[in-house]
Amino acid sequence: MEATNFIENIINKDLESGKVKSVYTRFPPEPNGYLHIGHAKSLCINFGIKEKYNGKCNLRYDDTNPVKEEVEYVDAIREDIKWLGFVWDEERYASDYFEQFYEYAVMLIKKGLAYVCDLSAEEIREIRGTLTEPGKESPYRNRSVEENLRLFQEMREGKYADGEKVLRAKIDMASSNMNMRDPVMYRILRAEHHRTGDKWLIYPMYDFAHPLEDAIENITHSICTLEFEDHRPLYDWFVEHCEFENPPQQIEFARLEITNTVMSKRYLKRLVDQGLVDGWDDPRMPTLSGMRKRGYPPEAIKNFCQKVGVAKANSVVDHRLLEFCVRDYLNTNAPRAMMVEKPLKIIIDNWEEGRFETIEIPDYPQNEDSATHKVRFGKEIFIDRRDFSLNPPPKYHRLVVGGKIRLKGAYILEYASVDKDENGEVVAVHCNYIEDSRSGQKNSKIKVKSTVQWVNCEDALPCELYKYSSLFLEQEDADENWEERINPNSLEIVKDAVVEPFLADQEIGKSFQFMREAYYKLAGKGENGLKFYRIVELKDSFKL
Ligand code: ATP
Ligand code: MG
Repeated sequence: MEATNFIENIINKDLESGKVKSVYTRFPPEPNGYLHIGHAKSLCINFGIKEKYNGKCNLRYDDTNPVKEEVEYVDAIREDIKWLGFVWDEERYASDYFEQFYEYAVMLIKKGLAYVCDLSAEEIREIRGTLTEPGKESPYRNRSVEENLRLFQEMREGKYADGEKVLRAKIDMASSNMNMRDPVMYRILRAEHHRTGDKWLIYPMYDFAHPLEDAIENITHSICTLEFEDHRPLYDWFVEHCEFENPPQQIEFARLEITNTVMSKRYLKRLVDQGLVDGWDDPRMPTLSGMRKRGYPPEAIKNFCQKVGVAKANSVVDHRLLEFCVRDYLNTNAPRAMMVEKPLKIIIDNWEEGRFETIEIPDYPQNEDSATHKVRFGKEIFIDRRDFSLNPPPKYHRLVVGGKIRLKGAYILEYASVDKDENGEVVAVHCNYIEDSRSGQKNSKIKVKSTVQWVNCEDALPCELYKYSSLFLEQEDADENWEERINPNSLEIVKDAVVEPFLADQEIGKSFQFMREAYYKLAGKGENGLKFYRIVELKDSFKL
């Protein structure tokens, strides 16, 4: 199997050498928030390996910290992974293994490799040393095995207050790796766990629990992000001393970071809690549920992860690459339709009252054999207010006094006059159409600088537009001073737009390209007719 990145290289070697017979990965979210686009990268790697090597991949909830975890998050995570189209082999929970963890801890105590320590968290930190100085040993380090066994059991039984004692691994207080300086394995914590309730008063720490979870599930390659690189010796230490026969191997890769957004669940939760967005699935959020709601196709997210690739060095990816992928997918999957955001009535003086002509609009004009849908052309139509100007700025090529404009798929119009209200506002523009000027007809070659979208007044469906843009103002470093960078105008709601009748019976959730405007998703019915979310704008300067 051809390797496309360094992780696959490792896997290939392990398969060739016979170190592993088949490949087993896992995706291990902590249910303390919703998944974001960074998690999509990890999902693509872990499930991508499963698919490529015909292996297995578990969904494992790393639920060892009851204070921050909730069932709402467990359910949301499951939905998001399904939406991306990944199928896990088993759904597991770290909390399923609490009893086993306990027994492994007892085993380490019996081997003289773990001890109960009465120092407070602060005291432990104080004598831990620094990168250049060794730490000091805890005065409780040399407790007897019997005493440790008794104290650990009493910790479990609730004899001590939260924080009064911890269980620590007995490794090396002089290690150059700070993680190896007698790390804490268990803490006392009275908190309601979303699955085990109040059964447990002690909870394992990540560094102890995670390698054991992997080993218990026979995971072969435990893929995580770079910040765990320094924890790998500890990971290996626990697996070795707990005597697992087929030790899993931890491999680290660079986490995904994107410009112009924040990605950590901690920050995303703050946006939600402070009411700066409408929940975790707000279409402006970099969460998978936000992207789903906004109309980002899962295929585009997967293509994006593919393009970003898997590297060992951290880098920040331009957010416009993701938008590029969304646009790229929608270009061939979102039919064209006409929407007029700021309707201005055009009255065609030389068109008879009551006469209509049917025009076919191709769903995908880039395909010669594209399906089409029909619209009616009549005496009164809407164009966008921005496509007409009484006092045009330089280089304005749309409809002006004395000028001409072509209507998409229909005729060329020639300016005649305007109707104004008492305030001098233009309320309608009178034009004459040029006969035989539809595409392919004898007058179609008349030079006109622009072609605009339009909607027949009698058939126009009112609609609301939710025009989303970035939650953050343009910035180079993701996460840097992010609270000051919040874009005060990340949502603009337009209440009085119109669309062609083709949009009337479409499935909710479907995406469209509104010509000359943007890609929009049909989100449902609003107070003022159909409701559309803007997914992404049509153009960007970003080049691949
Ligand atoms: P956060 O810092 O956003 O809370 P986390 O790493 O704490 O993220 P977990 O729920 O522990 O989130 O993550 C589950 C898996 O997803 C882990 O294997 C983690 O390494 C991976 N992951 C999380 N964030 C990213 C990211 N930005 N890029 C790639 N992988 C990520
Ligand atoms: Mg985490």
